[in-house]
Amino acid sequence: MSEEKYRKAARTIVKAGSFPFPISNTMIELLKLLINENQLNFIMAFRKKPSQTMEQLKLSSKMSEDEITAHIEKLAKIGFIFNQPNSNDIMVYRLMPLVMVGAFEYTFMKKIEFSKENEKIAQLFDELFDELADFIQDNYDMILPLFQRMLPFDRTVPFLGNNIEGEEIQININKEIEFPEEKVITTQNVEEIIKKFDEIALGHCFCRHHQDLLDNQCKQTELRENCFTFGKSAKYVVEQGFGRTISKDEALTILKASERDGLVHKAWHPHSDISKEETSICNCCKCCCGIFDWWRKGTTAMINSTNFLSYIDKSKCVGCGTCMEKCPVEAIQGDNNNKAERNSELCIGCGVCAHFCPENAISMLEGLRTVFVSPPRLRK
Ligand code: SF4
Ligand code: SF4
Ligand code: SF4
Repeated sequence: MSEEKYRKAARTIVKAGSFPFPISNTMIELLKLLINENQLNFIMAFRKKPSQTMEQLKLSSKMSEDEITAHIEKLAKIGFIFNQPNSNDIMVYRLMPLVMVGAFEYTFMKKIEFSKENEKIAQLFDELFDELADFIQDNYDMILPLFQRMLPFDRTVPFLGNNIEGEEIQININKEIEFPEEKVITTQNVEEIIKKFDEIALGHCFCRHHQDLLDNQCKQTELRENCFTFGKSAKYVVEQGFGRTISKDEALTILKASERDGLVHKAWHPHSDISKEETSICNCCKCCCGIFDWWRKGTTAMINSTNFLSYIDKSKCVGCGTCMEKCPVEAIQGDNNNKAERNSELCIGCGVCAHFCPENAISMLEGLRTVFVSPPRLRK
């Protein structure tokens, strides 16, 4: 009986997100560690509508306000319910999915303990992600159009300013891109984004924490506390104990350290609408970042909004290979003369290559575009 209830609750949680996770034994084992039986009926109240007001929840759950409040408090603490007012200032309770953004992110955003239970949770998430990869690969042709209809998950905010040798990175207009008349003006400077917000919360990098618990140390950085949330997301993060409030100065210091380690700045916007203010900024490494990793494993398409494309001046390139090693999406390869050659379909315009090129051979072309790269088809 309880098994069946867990399966029903699992279906409700999966429906709240964008990824078609199979309802497997792994999923049930994981949910049993995160959620207790008493919480299942409440979760199922979100079956038809993932976001509800208190009045709607009273009807859908058939529970009293006190019971609902008690459930919300506990489930918010583990990242299954988001409880902040909407844009009309009405309190809305949203059931969170497993990922992007949901229980996975909030579970590992806190400072973690290396306990047996946390290692088990990390391992079950990992198995679940493998099962999702299998499901996507098994149903590749059916699922690809779904990715093609999705909006960009994130937006790259490039490294601009000086390169590692202290020379200015050149920025030129990308003449191949025609600007639509109503161009969305987004902040292209990560420091400016930080300066816009009064409420900034700092959390740990959940992708690296997840890998730490699996005993896969990040190859790129020692940084763990480097994920920023803003506005009501920041409020939620602090209230639920997933992160702490920080000053703009501390945030800027962390950004500098992130650039030193070649971490890609990515901004997230509500409902992927880049005309709306950012909700968070991640500083992602090539190895652990869930989005890069899921794309390499064929679990998702890479869908990214960017305002830049790198340009390599081959006359200056000495073929040192730094940009090829640092590029997070393997967009640069050596040509026949071992000079760097960039694939424009893959380039997310992060500027990491330009920042680290010792010859200042890489400049950035400016022009808003969406990068869509299908998940690799890994099976015949
Ligand atoms: S998306 Fe990037 S910064 Fe954010 S948690 Fe993952 S690797 Fe860390
Ligand atoms: S880092 Fe610069 S010099 Fe080195 S291969 Fe890349 S473009 Fe050429
Ligand atoms: S080539 Fe790679 S490192 Fe350079 S901007 Fe594009 S994605 Fe970033």
